[in-house]
Amino acid sequence: MCGELRAEDSGRRLTLAGWADTRRDHGGLVFVDLRDHTGKTQLVINPERAPGAAEVAHEIRNEFVLQATGEVVPRAPEAINPNLPTGQIEVQVDELRILSRSTPLPFQLDEEGVDENLRLRYRWLDMRTERMQRNLRLNHTAIAAIRTVMDERGFVDVWTPSMTRGTPEGARDFLVPVRLQPGNFFALAQSPQLFKQLCMIGGIDRYYQIATCWRDEDLRADRQFEFRQLDLEMAFVEREDVLDVMEAAVVGAFEAAGVEAPPRPFPHLSYAEALLRYGTDKPDLRFGMEIQDATEITRGSEFGVFKNAPCVRYVVAPKTFSRAEQSRLEELAKEWGAKGLANLTQISKFLSERELEAFGVPEGSTALFVADEEPVVARVLGFLRLHLAHELDLIPAGLDVFHWVTDFPLFEHSEEFGGWTFMHHAFTAPLPEYEETLEAEPARALGQHYDLIWNGWELGSGSIRIHRADVQQAVFRVMGMSEEEQRSKFGYLLDALEMGAPPHGGFAMGIDRFIAQLAREPDIRQVTAFPKIASGSDPLTGAPTPFPDETLRELGIRLVEPPQPDR
Ligand code: ASP
Repeated sequence: MCGELRAEDSGRRLTLAGWADTRRDHGGLVFVDLRDHTGKTQLVINPERAPGAAEVAHEIRNEFVLQATGEVVPRAPEAINPNLPTGQIEVQVDELRILSRSTPLPFQLDEEGVDENLRLRYRWLDMRTERMQRNLRLNHTAIAAIRTVMDERGFVDVWTPSMTRGTPEGARDFLVPVRLQPGNFFALAQSPQLFKQLCMIGGIDRYYQIATCWRDEDLRADRQFEFRQLDLEMAFVEREDVLDVMEAAVVGAFEAAGVEAPPRPFPHLSYAEALLRYGTDKPDLRFGMEIQDATEITRGSEFGVFKNAPCVRYVVAPKTFSRAEQSRLEELAKEWGAKGLANLTQISKFLSERELEAFGVPEGSTALFVADEEPVVARVLGFLRLHLAHELDLIPAGLDVFHWVTDFPLFEHSEEFGGWTFMHHAFTAPLPEYEETLEAEPARALGQHYDLIWNGWELGSGSIRIHRADVQQAVFRVMGMSEEEQRSKFGYLLDALEMGAPPHGGFAMGIDRFIAQLAREPDIRQVTAFPKIASGSDPLTGAPTPFPDETLRELGIRLVEPPQPDR
């Protein structure tokens, strides 16, 4: 309650406990700011009134844990601190105890720019900062609100195993050796995907879980090895029913956090449209600068680069660039995979009146073109659009734009496997019109998959699932799986799909990503109590660590030289 005392509390006698935020000695009087997660209160210790307490007060250093008893008194007018909620009062202490001491700190709690590894090494100190207190408590508030929404809508929280068979979500598995079965491993669940589908077949028609998932991927701002999802599944539903629940969960969390909620329903964008207009399947729609297509208009162009390229597109940036700025943008475009980046002013002499008219660029703006294969053009202009938005400060602060991306391709061609693989996972149903033709024309098949995007962050994915074994097997066949392989890896799913599987669909939203965005933090480490760093280790415990040979022997494991990391 250190932050809760107000002028009306004057005259109350009470006992406070917390951490010493600062101590100041003023000619006999000692002032200590006592802090807990609610805020700070100023303690005054007067050696004349409380000699014992004054003696104790001299020993106090930052972050000592104290218990103080005394009376709340109004501050003298000149001592009022209008910047502090408790700035009208102070506590005249008569009893003071040090409950616990602290060694000198590796960093001060109010220090700016403390190295993140140091913060994580001493996370218990970092957690005492206002920022971490706010973020961890926001986690709780948002999740509690989401649970309420799920509960009100009849969802049942079913716990699913972490240690399982591989659950393919497109990442590497973390393996768990098993002492009772040397040479065999569990995989840590990349998601509860198949278990939640089995719940549907098992008659739990509304399942949800705040599920921990494990994926062995490189760590990034929005990725940790382990993370949480709001994981849900519903039987006898269509896409709109799933989206409706997700939107309600998002809005519920916003309201609980006291942040203005985005208007519902969230707008939809098809995958094809997203790539065409924004160059990515997770566009940031807080600003315009849409990509324009110039492929048609440049078919007969005199400018060879345009004429010979399968795709020509451009963005119009609201600025003119110096030669140096233009070269920098060209360098970036090349890093992103383009052969070049053409500025309309530099190439206008090669273009016809008709082309110039079509591009109609306003005064003070610049049209920047990429000509190449379509995926390259989309990717480069997508990156360029985002880069320019940040560079030119085009993103309005405090704006939240949520939207759905729908109708993804079911498969993508994988160089690695030399064949077709799923775009999200293998259990997404095709749109009905592609059900019959998906084996003959996998490239054309669209899936009933949807992603939720918030300000350019992919918050999560879901789909209407395949609920027929024959369709599931067709998808497996497109992926090059023999009957035998299908049976050995997914026999249990195929059996279940043949024993009365209702139509079903669901979604999973990355809770840590969601909370990071809600807290306006740049990465999920800031909302995770004990995260790992980019190298994949935990600075606090020092994990991962080697284990003694006897332990490994018991598990039937012998170490060999690890392969070079493939990054
Ligand atoms: N299992 C998927 C994932 O973890 C989400 C889903 O399709 O429900 O991304």
